Amino acid sequence: MQPSRHQRLRLRRILLASIASLLHLLLCWLAYASGHMRLDLLGMLALNLLVIGSFAGFLLFTWFNLNLHFRDPSLTLPQMAWAIVLIFISAYYAEGLRSLFLMMVLVVLMFGAFRLQLGGFVRVGVFTLLCYAVLLWLMLRSGQTVDWQDELMHGLEFFVLLFGVSLLGLEMSGLRQVLQTRNHDLRLAMERIQQLAITDELTGLYNRRFVKELVAQQKALADRGNYQFVLCLVDLDYFKAVNDQYGHAGGDAVLRQLGALLKSLVRDVDFAARMGGEEFLLVLSRTDTAGARQMLQRLRLAMAQQEWAQCPGLRLTLSLGMSAYRPEEDWQDCLQRADDALYRAKHAGRDQLVEL
Ligand code: GH3
Ligand code: MG
Ligand code: MG
Repeated sequence: MQPSRHQRLRLRRILLASIASLLHLLLCWLAYASGHMRLDLLGMLALNLLVIGSFAGFLLFTWFNLNLHFRDPSLTLPQMAWAIVLIFISAYYAEGLRSLFLMMVLVVLMFGAFRLQLGGFVRVGVFTLLCYAVLLWLMLRSGQTVDWQDELMHGLEFFVLLFGVSLLGLEMSGLRQVLQTRNHDLRLAMERIQQLAITDELTGLYNRRFVKELVAQQKALADRGNYQFVLCLVDLDYFKAVNDQYGHAGGDAVLRQLGALLKSLVRDVDFAARMGGEEFLLVLSRTDTAGARQMLQRLRLAMAQQEWAQCPGLRLTLSLGMSAYRPEEDWQDCLQRADDALYRAKHAGRDQLVEL
């Protein structure tokens, strides 16, 4: 099963966090080697096992999609909290190098930078403070001497840094949100542009440009066998007279209404497109000439009864040129035959269907 794009991104982030936690382990080993770690080899191995095991756990958890049950499937806060706990555990055992270890918390904070918002940063800050308090308490309880003045200074330094990095993180998270919104707007704009590119503005039908794609697709289906389609060019008779009598706006209204009529008469699997002017193309798919003839008969009947909203009393007829696709031919040849048929229909007196 392939993880989704989101899941792949999450896995990548956990992997990066795991690499950062290896750096943390490296720091532990350096401290160990220089005698700054109050752990023996066994303790060190246990610490390593804990760090590596927990990140492997996060990876597996996400790999098996268990994270999807959570409100934030990226598990940013739990991962950060756990990484901070691990850092404080090692800081507890690190003698003299505690401040250095705590700097790792800043690295953890940077990981949250693109995901957390103000509330998240505050929560991480409070959590870190709590861990710090527990650390001090554990140190006291285990009998370590605590130099309070020193400790206060270090603590303050640490939290000033934490605050600064949080501010930076907030800025980055804001940037990420701006980017996300912009991407979303861009996607909407792209969809709109794609829609516009294939649509005729006046009628809302497909435009001439898209016809190429539509018919080429039909051809591909038909050439695979067991599939037929018919092209039919539809041209209004004496449309110029409509413009002359009712004005261009009246003519436009007729074209819009005819567009709607064509769309309502064809089946869902068919396509209606405006080729330009008062000429339309019907792509009648999964049908032979007999089926197409029936449909076109319905169209001529509907035209005879049509009332044109902005041109009361107007009677309009159509000339129709139809051609069935012949397997393996160029679709342009089929369209050309339909065009020739339309030409013949016009010359034979209009208001009729010619097949070629
Ligand atoms: P025929 O029966 O031979 O098809 O005659 P016709 O008048 O329909 O065809 P002709 O090609 O002579 O004229 C087409 C007219 O359609 C001319 C043009 O002004 C008009 N026309 C083309 N596009 C539009 C449009 O978008 N809106 C309007 N209102 N008229 C248009
Ligand atoms: Mg015409
Ligand atoms: Mg024409």
